[in-house]
Amino acid sequence: MVDRFDILGHALCDTGHYLDARGHFAGTDGNISVRLPARCSRDADRVMITPSGVRKGRIEPSDLCVMSLDMTDPRGSNCRGRVPSSESKMHLAIYRGRSDVGAIIHAHSPYSVAWACSGLPVPEGLHPEAEVHLGTVPVVPYWMPGSVRVAAQVARTARSPDTTCLLMANHGAVAFGRTLDEAADRLDMLEAYLKMVVALRQIGAEDPLSARNLDDLRKWAKRGSQPQGADEADPED
Ligand SMILES: [Zn+2]
Repeated sequence: MVDRFDILGHALCDTGHYLDARGHFAGTDGNISVRLPARCSRDADRVMITPSGVRKGRIEPSDLCVMSLDMTDPRGSNCRGRVPSSESKMHLAIYRGRSDVGAIIHAHSPYSVAWACSGLPVPEGLHPEAEVHLGTVPVVPYWMPGSVRVAAQVARTARSPDTTCLLMANHGAVAFGRTLDEAADRLDMLEAYLKMVVALRQIGAEDPLSARNLDDLRKWAKRGSQPQGADEADPED
């Protein structure tokens, strides 16, 4: 029988390879983690996380570390001489505050970093996909990367169940989801959205969605089902 632990290790590495090919990581930066399910009895209340100093495009399951959610093993276990990511405190703090989160990705994706360095809030009300799949994207004030302070600030912001991803000012992006695929898709959508916004600002004109269209999209996002509303309403209404 294939071990669930091994399946998740391979899935985490596949996510790293995919996002690296998409341009989300430079050098050895970024980090990815996945919560180990309770049915991995030996790993209850633990997460698997990438170590420092390893390219995500080449990472292998044997590189991965395991850490307890309560940080009782700050150097991790199963690490084979490697050191868990310097942002592991942030990952663990998010998991502790969000029982629905099963995977977290932190990356220095170029357009996300550019926006995070702008001092501007992430614009809303421009594009249906961003409204439905990302929602409001908060920007967490700058704190030293890897610090307890940044971990606490990010986790506090991430605690809202509607938050899917966020920017860390002057630093990067964090996306989370129930699964590795969901977290990866959100990171990818955030980067694509901010690339689109940068292009829009270069055009120099904006035509936001109407309040009614936004209301319909937000209802759709909350329901998680097919859209209803404007398309079905009386066009003369
Ligand atoms: Zn970083």
